[in-house]
Amino acid sequence: MKDENCIFCRIANGEIPSRTIYEDERFRVFLDLSPAAKGHALIVPKEHYANLYELPEDLAADVMRLAKRQAAVMTEKLSCDGFQLVQNNGKCAGQTVFHFHMHLIPRYRSDGQNIAWEPGSPSDAELDGVKAQILS
Ligand code: 5GP
Ligand code: ZN
Repeated sequence: MKDENCIFCRIANGEIPSRTIYEDERFRVFLDLSPAAKGHALIVPKEHYANLYELPEDLAADVMRLAKRQAAVMTEKLSCDGFQLVQNNGKCAGQTVFHFHMHLIPRYRSDGQNIAWEPGSPSDAELDGVKAQILS
């Protein structure tokens, strides 16, 4: 399925040009226009799935395979010092484009980025409660 109003459908299917670094029948990987660090790219399926919840499991597995391969290639070519995968689902989780994508972010010791969260400090009882809720 494609959505004509979706920017990533149009990029992934080649209607809008992008700086593509990998393409096959199901995916396009292209450079992010507002990169967190040099080489920041996005894995985008050519079919429209709004988020991880909608993405079929087999495609999800292939996203991770592709991420692993791209991480190796990009690390070698860009000589980055680390590599971060980010994948946002829902507005409150930072998703701004509602077509599933995986961020590939090469990290450099001096890149000055801070892609992090404030660590919480729950009690043992609270952690036990969360575990019970998930397992219920
Ligand atoms: P999200 O916040 O949804 O996880 O990530 C969306 C990403 O898409 C952002 O990093 C943003 O810079 C990138 N982006 C948004 N529009 C375009 C576009 O038209 N072209 C490219 N290459 N990247 C885009
Ligand atoms: Zn789309």
